[in-house]
Amino acid sequence: MKRLLGYLKEHLCVTILAPLFKMLEASFELFVPLVVASMIDVGIGHHDIGYLWKMGGLLILLGIIGFSFSITAQYFAARSAVYTGKSMRSDLFAHMNQFSYQEIDQVGTSTLINRMSNDINQVQNGVNMFLRLFLRSPFVVFGAMFMAFTVDHKAAVSFVFTITALAVVVGLILWITMPMYKKVQKQVDGVLKSTRENLLGIRVIRAFNRQRSEEENFRLQSRQLYSKQIHVGKISALLNPLTYMIINLGIIAILWSGGKQVDLGYLTQGQIIALINYMSQILVELVKLANLLIILSRAFASLDRVDQIFALEPSMKETGKTDIEAKKDTPILEFKDTSFVYHGARKETIHPFDFAVKEGETIGVIGGTGSGKSTFVSLIARLYDVTSGRILYRGVDEKELKPEFIRGKIGFVPQKASLFEGSLRDNMKWGKEDATDEEIYQALDIAQAREFVDQKEQGLDFRIEQNGGNLSGGQKQRLTIARALVRKPEILILDDSASALDFATDARLRKAIKENTENMTVFLVSQRVSTIRNADHILVLDDGKIAGIGTHKELLRNCEVYKQIAASQLSEKELQDGMQSEDRKTEDIKSETIKTEERKEAISAKTAEQEVRSDV
Ligand code: ADP
Repeated sequence: MKRLLGYLKEHLCVTILAPLFKMLEASFELFVPLVVASMIDVGIGHHDIGYLWKMGGLLILLGIIGFSFSITAQYFAARSAVYTGKSMRSDLFAHMNQFSYQEIDQVGTSTLINRMSNDINQVQNGVNMFLRLFLRSPFVVFGAMFMAFTVDHKAAVSFVFTITALAVVVGLILWITMPMYKKVQKQVDGVLKSTRENLLGIRVIRAFNRQRSEEENFRLQSRQLYSKQIHVGKISALLNPLTYMIINLGIIAILWSGGKQVDLGYLTQGQIIALINYMSQILVELVKLANLLIILSRAFASLDRVDQIFALEPSMKETGKTDIEAKKDTPILEFKDTSFVYHGARKETIHPFDFAVKEGETIGVIGGTGSGKSTFVSLIARLYDVTSGRILYRGVDEKELKPEFIRGKIGFVPQKASLFEGSLRDNMKWGKEDATDEEIYQALDIAQAREFVDQKEQGLDFRIEQNGGNLSGGQKQRLTIARALVRKPEILILDDSASALDFATDARLRKAIKENTENMTVFLVSQRVSTIRNADHILVLDDGKIAGIGTHKELLRNCEVYKQIAASQLSEKELQDGMQSEDRKTEDIKSETIKTEERKEAISAKTAEQEVRSDV
């Protein structure tokens, strides 16, 4: 609420002028019944055509003035509401942008989109209607009563009764329907959420022939919404007949008592008409007021939900060191007793572990689905903060570093390749804003995406559709890898990013990365043993625990989990080769050493012989 008032204050002038102009419009409206009364009493009563023309002209003038005030008021109200909506939307967007993955997981993307769109629209609409009606409606109700009192103070009694009865009926209906409208709003949220999920997953839904069950699901949701709306609609529909009934009873009372007064000569016919007109004005305004209250209750509920998002503090501050002293022989990354628990999860997703990575090393990360591979690499890029323990980047705790700084050192290729609408060049420049075409082509070469780009007539100007809709899964993956490589990161993280590539392209990609990225530390997350078998170290994850760390051969010997994964993917021969490759290497080294020793001995024997000869 405080925030909303802040926005309104920013545009104080239009915010104040809107209700003021509405009040001016209402004041002119209050004179109309008096003019009509005098037209009846004087113009018609005395057959004074000239007077009727004059008063008719006055009515038109009042109408024009009222209309221009009304238009001006609505313009100011709309401006203030649109300003408020715009400012709130931009501030909310900026606030959401500071959220770490933790908060995004907690709230959910659909909810965030709903807050940004539907909820802020409700608030905007609420502000608009409030500025237009919050002064006008009570002003007309009490103004009409006052005017009626000036016409005939006895008639005021029927007005008091009628207004009280109207207020009770309107209040009662609102009291019953307001909580129902809140439920309807919640249901609308549900329908929007399921629509969004459906549209996003439309390909999968079609591929699995789930259209019918999804349709059924949607129908169920909208049926619930329909029945809730009908239920609340039926109760709200009572508003009109009940209020009209009360007003008509009030009019009957006026006619009944007024009629006698007219006969006695205390009141004129015109005055009776004026009283009836005031009664009708009150009715119209009370109905408007009831609608305003319904709109306001929705707007307040939405404002509350928007405020809840504003109240959610980003757990990761965008502050910290942006410069560190490079120490020699310090590992580029060190995990010290590092562990992680997702928000709301009961157990650790990553159990405490220690591990150090030297610059230029390639680290393979393998494990079953859900074993924690993606979570592990997300921690490196500080997409989440570790729950306990530390991750050191060149000896400095990542929590002391500005997230932007550490992310700038990392080229992160997430599991789900996502590209943005725009040219291929623009997408590549996400990695490095000032990247030249040459740098982009280099990255495309390494990522094995050059050939496919060359096939496109437009080259780097090729237009990518929203979310890369006009590209295949493998093409998207290669482009996202190229995008990460453009910035020549110190650490490259490929989170199962080559899963859609065939084995040969995957192998070429790894070879190209190895050959072209000197000193780059690479994390290769994969389910394929063939992808990570040549890594300097392989981390084997099993249900969030490190089941083993070592080379392919070491793990084949002493890590049961790795052995099982390898056995399910490699042939017997490949397994044997893997076990023996190191042995063969050791044998080779041994025989090389023996040969060297023999050579050395031969040389020293020769030298001794020469020495003996020279002595002789
Ligand atoms: P992997 O990459 O090995 O398939 P993940 O790191 O994606 O595994 O997931 C590890 C575990 O963490 C899984 O049990 C998964 O359900 C859970 N998990 C993943 N992401 C989230 C999240 N955003 N919120 C809560 N739990 C999550």
